[in-house]
Amino acid sequence: MTKKRPENGGEPTVIAKCTECGDIYPAQEATDGNYRPIGTNGSCNCGNRDFEPAT
Ligand SMILES: [Zn+2]
Repeated sequence: MTKKRPENGGEPTVIAKCTECGDIYPAQEATDGNYRPIGTNGSCNCGNRDFEPAT
């Protein structure tokens, strides 16, 4: 059985919070220093693409 990783999948490493609406997503830290929420196309439901780590 081959385990295939979808583009927007993967293991979340951080909890990221949308800087616009405050929604919380499990996310991966991207190489550019931003965060990519898992299970989305890289942006929040509100359309914002900027996230900060939530503690
Ligand atoms: Zn948002």
